[in-house]
Amino acid sequence: MLEHWTRFAVTTLVVAFAVLAIAHAAPQRVDGGFSFEKVIPAMEVLEDPDGRMDFESVRASGDFRPAPAMGTNFGFTSSAWWVRFTLTNPGEGDRHVVLREDYPLIDHLELWAQQRDGSWRHTATGDRTAFSTREFAHRDFLFDLDVPSASERTYYVRAASGGPVDLSLAVYGTHALVSALSIEQLAYGAYYGGFIVLVLYNFFIFLIVRDRAFVFYLLYAISYGLYFAIHNGLAFQLLWPESPAWGNQALLVMLSFTLIFGMQFTRTFLDTAGFARRLDKLAIFTQWLAAIGLIASFFAPYATLILPISLLTVVLVTLILTLGTLGLVKGYRPARYFMIAWAMLLVGVLAYMLKVFGILPHNLLTQNGFQVGSLVEMVLLSLALASRVRELQRQSRTDTLTRVPNRRHFDEVASGEFERARRNNGSMALLVVDIDHFKQFNDRYGHSRGDEVLRQVAEKLSNGVRRGDHACRYGGEEFALVLPGADGTAAADVAESLRSLVESSAQPDAPITVSIGVATSRDREFANVDELFQAADRALYRAKDLGRNRVERYAG
Ligand code: GH3
Ligand code: MG
Ligand code: MG
Repeated sequence: MLEHWTRFAVTTLVVAFAVLAIAHAAPQRVDGGFSFEKVIPAMEVLEDPDGRMDFESVRASGDFRPAPAMGTNFGFTSSAWWVRFTLTNPGEGDRHVVLREDYPLIDHLELWAQQRDGSWRHTATGDRTAFSTREFAHRDFLFDLDVPSASERTYYVRAASGGPVDLSLAVYGTHALVSALSIEQLAYGAYYGGFIVLVLYNFFIFLIVRDRAFVFYLLYAISYGLYFAIHNGLAFQLLWPESPAWGNQALLVMLSFTLIFGMQFTRTFLDTAGFARRLDKLAIFTQWLAAIGLIASFFAPYATLILPISLLTVVLVTLILTLGTLGLVKGYRPARYFMIAWAMLLVGVLAYMLKVFGILPHNLLTQNGFQVGSLVEMVLLSLALASRVRELQRQSRTDTLTRVPNRRHFDEVASGEFERARRNNGSMALLVVDIDHFKQFNDRYGHSRGDEVLRQVAEKLSNGVRRGDHACRYGGEEFALVLPGADGTAAADVAESLRSLVESSAQPDAPITVSIGVATSRDREFANVDELFQAADRALYRAKDLGRNRVERYAG
């Protein structure tokens, strides 16, 4: 699976570089046939290291350089970046096209566009100013560009940000924009719809099963979903359009919550304290670090915190994968889904991180791979939860000492089979097995050797019956067996073979025998399964009275 993803990523990168390499250098034409240009040709870049240059001095500056071939993702930078490009409209009609910047977290983004009277229209927006400063009410930055017929227009963009300055300017014709946005919105709707359904679904399951792991899953999914909504610019547009300061802080807050709850979910889900004490302590420590990051986000700027928190993310994910692997090695079945889920996410995290630090270019895969991975992760974790519920159910019906089904399982199975036999006019048999003189055995050989014998007897009993029969530990040194469909003779035969199996497999220095009472639903008109059990128990007592190490059938 990983190999497949890596190959996919590499192929995409090669294609992306090829596209960049063939970008031609004349001004972009935006005549009637124009629809969309992702990489604006002849774009030029100017770095303003202390961010003090004004528009007039930039216009006069001769320091513009062609945009780097890698693209204009400048990563973390304290400089302001100026971009200049020219659109030409050789056609008859005037053209309106839209400039789009699709990284919505840039703090300050400004555009200067020359108007027909020669004056410059200046739009100043960014995610540090209220949402209402945008020309279009959209999660990304969109600017209307007016290119009159038979003319050429040059535009200036200034970008500065505490976070990465990840510029990827594109020009859209209005038709191309509408069709691109409608598909994107549908994709986002599906993505967040998926999250909402997962949250609601698991919330309802939680109401039924009341397992704490579900609570942490929900908190994890909600903070994670919000983190992405902030990242996509949707939270700013829809949740807090008037609060840009909070919007910027919220990214770190949600990231910290995601780390805290993701780890809490892992610890609860795998029950790490039970099998990896030291690593569990380390996990708690990383949670505290994330909590410190959360508190620090109220005081320290984004640029200071994002690096340590990103590193913490890497440490946390590594730890989670280690814990999951240990869980797998221990044979905890739900850990399988858990690990596949995290592997899916990991691929996305890596691609995205490399993009943020400017190592990978900004493209559909790097920008959204993380997100798709996260939804797949959430679906698989939900599956892992279901698997955990099943596992807990199984554990609650299993005896911890002997690993055979316990009394609870017996009660359910016995009454179920009893009803079935009655309905079908069939038969079912109950065997009650009790180890002889076990008290003396314990006194002589010690309690732990007694435990060992209990385990061996349990194993003999469950291996000595057919599939579909149930051998359960009823309590103490008593076992109860349910044999669906067996009549009196067949049940007595099975009982006899079990008796001799136990006797013959005991170690010579410590003989072990059992007495067995047998009753079947045909022996008498039993009102319920309890009466049947009492009948088998009475037969057992007779076997004890008659000298032990023998089988007795219920005799009315
Ligand atoms: P009888 O042949 O009449 O059944 O005699 P008994 O000694 O087997 O019967 P009794 O009911 O008097 O004693 C049962 C003993 O089983 C008492 C207890 O110490 C032992 N026992 C019950 N549960 C366990 C257990 O989990 N481990 C061990 N080692 N012993 C157990
Ligand atoms: Mg006994
Ligand atoms: Mg007993």
